[in-house]
Amino acid sequence: MNLLSQLLSRSEHEGRRLRPNRVQGVEIKTEAEIAIMRQAARIVATVLKEIADRVEPGMTTADLDAYAERRIREMGATPSFKGYHGFPSSICACTNDEVVHGIPRQRKVIRAGDVLKVDTGAYYNGFHGDSCITLAVGKLATKAQMLMETAEAALYAGISQVKPGNTLLDIAGAIEDVAKAGGYSIVEDYVGHGVGRNLHEPPSVFNFRTRELPNVTLRAGMTLAIEPILNAGGKHTRTLSDRWTVVTLDRSLSAQFEHTVLVTETGYEILTDRTGL
Ligand code: MG
Ligand code: MG
Repeated sequence: MNLLSQLLSRSEHEGRRLRPNRVQGVEIKTEAEIAIMRQAARIVATVLKEIADRVEPGMTTADLDAYAERRIREMGATPSFKGYHGFPSSICACTNDEVVHGIPRQRKVIRAGDVLKVDTGAYYNGFHGDSCITLAVGKLATKAQMLMETAEAALYAGISQVKPGNTLLDIAGAIEDVAKAGGYSIVEDYVGHGVGRNLHEPPSVFNFRTRELPNVTLRAGMTLAIEPILNAGGKHTRTLSDRWTVVTLDRSLSAQFEHTVLVTETGYEILTDRTGL
């Protein structure tokens, strides 16, 4: 092997990052990787923005799924969810008392007054973006509107704690305080996660104060999917017989927002931000 080919193979090796840098088990992304993640996340944000602009009563959740898949592929990515542990679709679509992992269906017609959650992910050049929005279809009942607004406020309260030196417990505490102040419960069965070359990777980004899950000190270059789920009733959930769709045990309303967030040197950058799109 001559010097040139040695140099080439070394740069190729470095480009692939065969042994990523990890701190407390959490991968620290390079600038080059972050640049790709921005693109993956922007695709996700674009799809969710477009769905938010288009959704109306009478559409089915299968319509939204087909739209999302087409747009993700048009933008040069592949749907992160499709085929993930056998999940059949490109979005998770949940209404009202459905919490997470709703399978889009042709028979599932969206109605005015529905609280609609759309979660999607895009895989682009080796990296994933992941985001979820709750949408009001038509005009919501006041209680539903309040739940939705509080869930979004909880997400942003959590994000506001993202900076080097803070910990996952700072994020969780901020989310919990907003939820509790609104009189809502927080689902504990599902938590956020690291995101990057894998859709789900360490750490578990919990939304409530706990000593059961490992706390991690945030470092620049970590990329986290923060995704609190708030319920109007109790926190408990159960999975329906389709083995995917999760609902609140008491059938109360549920709302969720999620962003993929980069820890920067001074704070955070919301990679799936939709503002300005
Ligand atoms: Mg998600
Ligand atoms: Mg997620």
